[in-house]
Amino acid sequence: MKINLPPQVEKAIETLNNSGFEAYVVGGCVRDTLMGKQPFDWDVTTSAMPEEIKNAFTGYKRIETGIKHGTITVLIGQMPIEVTAYRIDGEYSDSRHPDSVRFTRKLEEDLARRDFTMNALAYHPANGLIDCFEGLKDIKLRRIRCVGDPDLRFQEDGLRILRALRFSSVLDFEIEKETSESIHRNCGRLRLISAERINTEFTKLICGRNAEEILRDYRFTIEQFLPEIAPLAALQTESGQNVWEHTLRAITAAEAVPVLRLTMLLHEIGKPFYDNQNKANPDLKGAEIANQALKKLRYDGWTVRTISELVKRHNLPLIPEEKQILRYLNRFGAENFRLLLKVKEADAKAQLPVDSKTLEDLEKADRMLEYILKSGLCYSLKGLAVSGADLMKLGIPEGAEVGKTLTFLLNAVMDGKCPNEHSELIKYIKKEGTFNGNG
Ligand code: ATP
Ligand code: MG
Repeated sequence: MKINLPPQVEKAIETLNNSGFEAYVVGGCVRDTLMGKQPFDWDVTTSAMPEEIKNAFTGYKRIETGIKHGTITVLIGQMPIEVTAYRIDGEYSDSRHPDSVRFTRKLEEDLARRDFTMNALAYHPANGLIDCFEGLKDIKLRRIRCVGDPDLRFQEDGLRILRALRFSSVLDFEIEKETSESIHRNCGRLRLISAERINTEFTKLICGRNAEEILRDYRFTIEQFLPEIAPLAALQTESGQNVWEHTLRAITAAEAVPVLRLTMLLHEIGKPFYDNQNKANPDLKGAEIANQALKKLRYDGWTVRTISELVKRHNLPLIPEEKQILRYLNRFGAENFRLLLKVKEADAKAQLPVDSKTLEDLEKADRMLEYILKSGLCYSLKGLAVSGADLMKLGIPEGAEVGKTLTFLLNAVMDGKCPNEHSELIKYIKKEGTFNGNG
């Protein structure tokens, strides 16, 4: 078995070997190359202790990324390579980092601490593939299996539960039976894991090609850190569909980017609070719940705000007429309005049967939106061909009156009553405005 390593990575291995240490590429990069994929980054594992790694790479730029855990990043020809000493992890009582790490000179012990067999492979240009746990076989069978006893491994570090689901979603691998059963038994462990670690894995999971299936099969596991979804499975939509099943289809129907996938996951989250008596709008409640849930999971401000807004507006009636589209653009801005159209599209596709009337309207709206943006039609005060200063020159008093007049003109432009040209707008305000021209 031959793996083509980038020359910088070969250099790192050779440098360690020349100093008398073992060194292998390891983990995700080996897995990805064996699957015919270009790895994102290359990790090297070595029998050298942290200080010895530093000494082996004198003359290179070294960054002590995680020196306590044995990791040093070495820059070789611009390429950052993470070099980590062979280690055996201790308990993860803070569920973040192992409390203690012990270093070892034995590769097999380092491989044994890794989460899944497919991630426990090491490779050296001369020694070939080191596969102590049948990782290659599992990759061929497209299967995720813990290294060692799954119960113990998940109890050591609960994040591995979510990593298994993430890999299954992204790689379209099946989770092997014992590992899967252990996940169901141990999923409560996820409650001990920090929100930041959950966030990284969950965001990848929801963007995976198998997200729908994983969320369906492991809903209870996901509820450990996202309890807000729990009531959805017991609810029906107005047209009699199961709300959780609708949610899952909507996730698949959306583009695989976090903001859209997460919006679809949460778009019906306010439904349980819908009150037939006072007709409260469930989407307002939904936006509030989404906001809190995403904050708790430490999503960034833009993501939290955008998703809350999209959840709140996803049922906004859409009229595919130019003057309406201009108004939506004015209200939401181009970027968010585009997202809203995509959310509505995923929602319509997830209806049973597919809501083709809405899809047609959305397509029209989309074409109009692109036309408006391309031809630079005005939909905001910023784009209006007169400014507040122009109006004050006409004698309109500074302050609220100027603001009102500008909005009046913008509406006239968006309704097609007046072209967005300076002289035309001035003429228009003199003719139509409440303003009488005498200050
Ligand atoms: P990706 O391609 O998404 O980066 P990866 O497998 O490289 O996937 P990383 O989080 O970069 O994942 O971790 C690198 C390697 O470290 C893994 O392949 C695995 O061997 C090991 N590893 C990472 N997290 C854990 C963990 N929580 N428990 C045990 N081993 C882990
Ligand atoms: Mg990686």
